[in-house]
Amino acid sequence: MALTSPPTAVVLSIAGSDCSGGAGIQADIKTAAAFGAFAATAITAITAQNARQLQAVYALPAEQVDAQITAICQGLPIKAVKLGMLGSVAIAECVVAHLKRLRKVQPQLPIVIDPVMKASSGGVLSHQGLWDYYRQALFPLASLLTPNLLEAAEFLQQPPATTFEAFTAQALALKSQNVSAVLLKGGHFVSQNPHEQQFACDLLVCPQGPYTFSNTRLQVSASHGSGCTLATGIAAGLAQGLSLRQAIAAAKSYIQGALAHSDRLQLAPSNGPIHHFYNLW
Ligand code: PLP
Repeated sequence: MALTSPPTAVVLSIAGSDCSGGAGIQADIKTAAAFGAFAATAITAITAQNARQLQAVYALPAEQVDAQITAICQGLPIKAVKLGMLGSVAIAECVVAHLKRLRKVQPQLPIVIDPVMKASSGGVLSHQGLWDYYRQALFPLASLLTPNLLEAAEFLQQPPATTFEAFTAQALALKSQNVSAVLLKGGHFVSQNPHEQQFACDLLVCPQGPYTFSNTRLQVSASHGSGCTLATGIAAGLAQGLSLRQAIAAAKSYIQGALAHSDRLQLAPSNGPIHHFYNLW
């Protein structure tokens, strides 16, 4: 039988495993599948956690991560890369070497970098040395960097923004650190203006100008995995040929649905997982 449709777009996710299933690699696989893309995964670290607590983090040896990425690249046509938790500077160095090699062959390869600082229950997933390495070696490779409010503040060594002016200034300041595009996520941003409090607003700063993506703020107790999901949804859209703005809009719409339907899972009283397959069940 002749194949007429294009091959399924492959997203390479390089991230940590969340044994509780809501975030990290597990969220990335579900998100890519929900977008009709195919996730190949290089695991950087294994975490032991649940909705309440991060209990242990074991970063894999960099050689192991190197072997996974090599095997994936030899066997699959990568259309976009998503980086989540990297685990150690040695792993990040190995990832950078692979990304540079991939970009030599595919100069336009989309690379979405979600800088992961903490688990949503609060435990630390990235240390300061790794944070410095992001600025130095990963920022220049990012097609898009997707920090939340706290991660942006940490990168800039500033207090988290409390006004929309400060929020915008931080997005611009990050973009000026040699990054092509920054999507500063507004989920943690609580405006002092009561009207603005009704919305969760993400700000994209890119060469074409600033754009806002605004959604009604949902009052849900489950949001574990939402950062990983947004970044992978964007990577899946880019892998399928969407523009950056189209891919962000599609991923935002998807995550709004996954958050809104998280209660259907009924898995944790707080900080539970979002519902990746709310369109199916
Ligand atoms: N990556 C891993 C392995 C994690 O365990 C977590 C959170 O627990 C994250 C990333 C970040 O999750 P979120 O998408 O909630 O920001």
